[in-house]
Amino acid sequence: MTTACSEHGCKGQVPPALEAAHLCILHFTLQIEKASAEMRRETVYGKTPHARQVEIIHYIAEHGEMLARASTSGLHLPDEMKARILNTFLTLINLRENLDRAALRQPIGRTGG
Ligand SMILES: [Zn+2]
Repeated sequence: MTTACSEHGCKGQVPPALEAAHLCILHFTLQIEKASAEMRRETVYGKTPHARQVEIIHYIAEHGEMLARASTSGLHLPDEMKARILNTFLTLINLRENLDRAALRQPIGRTGG
């Protein structure tokens, strides 16, 4: 039994690995891209509080894992969708790298101000 994507007007099916997100693969990747762009803007100055950084790192790991599980579960995806999935992985990888780079720009031990 499969559930339908919760995105309005979408008739896509939710793969078991994405049950928690209630989204089809397409809308799951779109959601990640959107959230990542927002987090990228949020973290670009390296002034993100540590707790928030940890939250973002968890988001990246969790969603990367869900996407990996969904895309390798034998769904017979069109090439276009496979390319989109790879691109979304790249977005997550780059977001994580940027987070580390932004953190490095802020000298450790300095509280700012
Ligand atoms: Zn959908």
